[in-house]
Amino acid sequence: MPGPPRLPELVVDVLADPRSRPVILLRVALFTSLYVAVALVALMSVTEDTQLSPVWPSSGVAAFWILTSSRASRPYDLTALAVAAAVAAFAPSDGDAAMVAVRAGAALVMALLFRRLVDRWTVLRRPDGRLRRLTRLGTVGKVAAAALLAGLAQTSLIELGLVLFDDPDRLAYFHRWGRNSIAIFVVVLTAVLVLGAVAPPPNGDVAEAAPEPARRSVGASAGARLRARSDELAALVVFTAAVFALTFGAFPELPMAFVLFLPSAWAGIRFSPPVAAVHGLLTGSVAVVLTLAGVGVYAQVDDPFLRAFLAQAFLCVVFATTVVISLIRNQLLTAERHAQSRTRLLDSVVRAVGDGLLLVEEDGRIVLMNRAGHELLGVQDRPGYIGPLTPGEFFEGDGKEVSEDRRFYVRAFAGDEAQGEDMILRSPDGGVDRVLRVSAQLMDVEPGTPRQVLLSWHDVTAERAHSAALASFAGEVAHDLKNPLAVVEGWSEMLASELEGTEPLDSAEGLAMTRRIQGAAAHMRTLIGELLTYTLARDHELRPERIELAQLAEPVAEINRQSAADAGQGVAHIEVDCPHVVWGDPVLLRQLLDNLVGNSVKYVVEGVQPHVCIRSRLVDGLVEVSVTDNGLGVPVADRERIFESFYRLDRPGYSGTGLGLAICARIVERHGSHLVVGDGPDGVGSTFSFRLPTP
Ligand code: ADP
Repeated sequence: MPGPPRLPELVVDVLADPRSRPVILLRVALFTSLYVAVALVALMSVTEDTQLSPVWPSSGVAAFWILTSSRASRPYDLTALAVAAAVAAFAPSDGDAAMVAVRAGAALVMALLFRRLVDRWTVLRRPDGRLRRLTRLGTVGKVAAAALLAGLAQTSLIELGLVLFDDPDRLAYFHRWGRNSIAIFVVVLTAVLVLGAVAPPPNGDVAEAAPEPARRSVGASAGARLRARSDELAALVVFTAAVFALTFGAFPELPMAFVLFLPSAWAGIRFSPPVAAVHGLLTGSVAVVLTLAGVGVYAQVDDPFLRAFLAQAFLCVVFATTVVISLIRNQLLTAERHAQSRTRLLDSVVRAVGDGLLLVEEDGRIVLMNRAGHELLGVQDRPGYIGPLTPGEFFEGDGKEVSEDRRFYVRAFAGDEAQGEDMILRSPDGGVDRVLRVSAQLMDVEPGTPRQVLLSWHDVTAERAHSAALASFAGEVAHDLKNPLAVVEGWSEMLASELEGTEPLDSAEGLAMTRRIQGAAAHMRTLIGELLTYTLARDHELRPERIELAQLAEPVAEINRQSAADAGQGVAHIEVDCPHVVWGDPVLLRQLLDNLVGNSVKYVVEGVQPHVCIRSRLVDGLVEVSVTDNGLGVPVADRERIFESFYRLDRPGYSGTGLGLAICARIVERHGSHLVVGDGPDGVGSTFSFRLPTP
């Protein structure tokens, strides 16, 4: 069950799109009483000499009433308006039934025409009948035009009635048109503005144009601002009263009405459109009432029609001026807020960009530099920093220092914009040089402002290092494949020429040549196989799981015992002492252990029985795995380089590709550790070790 409606919602329901019968009746009762009450007050001001009410605000009430009537409430609204208009027309028509009917009908035609025109010319009314918040200046003009036309229609109908049933009066005709149109314009605009402020429709699409962005401050500062606003409003009220006292009270005979525009200008410049509209309406109405009471500058005009008309024209102009100034102020504020939020957005984008960005003027002054730019160039990060562009030591791609006229921004100002050129930034403290890919673009700036170039740079040091490593790797692969291929070619040529020769080929000799060819082919196969493993170790998706180390190491030990026996090395002692459980990729870790144990068995002095130990222990919460052997050991000078691809120690009689340890190092790195080599137990042989996480 929905709770009772809150006041703003109830106001919206009553004023627009009422659906339920009680709300419709409440609305009809409210508008009818308002219309009749306002009409009675206006009728009290009828003067002897004119027999015509000088003001007629009921027209405004009727126009707003029908403007906000919905499909459901319209029959009730129109009927009630007809009755209310007839009641109000009774006295002015001297009880003449025909004239009462004409006046009531004219009120209905006016209200319906006004609504039709507003719908045609503006987007004030939403399809569901509710009103949008008025923000556009043009709408004020369109509402004024609709009010003039609707007032004209109403007045003309009454005039026609007077021609038919009574006595027409040309002056009264124009006066009636003026007072009715002004009433429609002023009442409808005030109601629309105030309603839009106190009770905007609940869902989106509340304003004519794009909704205003949220105001910045909330909480305490918003409260303080509100207090300051109400203080200023009180000051405005006092000032307005003082100006009225001066112009209407102290010097009523002086034509000082223009002074009354001062408080209006204040209200328009400093307050929102609803407040400005209410101020305009009240000040204008006070002027009208005082004039009707015979006080003030307009009261001196003899002609009663002219007197009333001048006072109302004054009301209309004061009101329109105040509202228009306030709407312009609102538009400016909205535009300013939009601009500020766009600037903030742009600022955060520039700050967040990972590339260095720098805006520079022709004399080398930095207008803007983002954080990435500061970090890369090492310039102090000071907000609003402006200083001459003095880059550290910049070198072009070919190693030459960047000369003054070759600077990217200088070239860009000269019309030579760089699109991704490499530049080397030499580190002042002897650290790693950085390679930057720089672009420079001349900015499109307002004529008359200093020209600017946007420099952007991307740190491609890692990319360049990677492609250099890749190129050298490819070179080494090609080189290592060429050797066995040359062997294959050489021996097969030799074999062919022997076979072509006149001498019959000795079978032992032929066999020896074929063996050499087979050996080279086998070496190529191993090399290609290891290359594949190497790429796998680098790029294969890591699928870590819980592994019992012993279960991984035992089969590795067994296979290597077997291959040692096959290679004629006799019995290889391979111990496994791995009681720990680790978290890693089983395929890659098996490859790792296999390579390490294989090397340990292979690199021993000829005739020495290999003795290998695979151990694990807990160190700092990680499992340290080590493979020790009694082999040749690795000289201290080579302990870094043996992990590079294709790096081999010069050891005649031991074949290999130089990729095995590179594969091992990759696998260990991908598990978050480093593979290291040291001496073996008692200084004999070597120890390879690394760490693995536990599950
Ligand atoms: P490969 O064994 O195919 O030559 P590796 O990358 O596995 O390539 O090894 C690189 C070099 O490191 C080898 O040439 C070898 O001399 C040396 N080496 C590797 N493991 C050992 C070890 N356990 N004992 C002594 N030297 C080793």
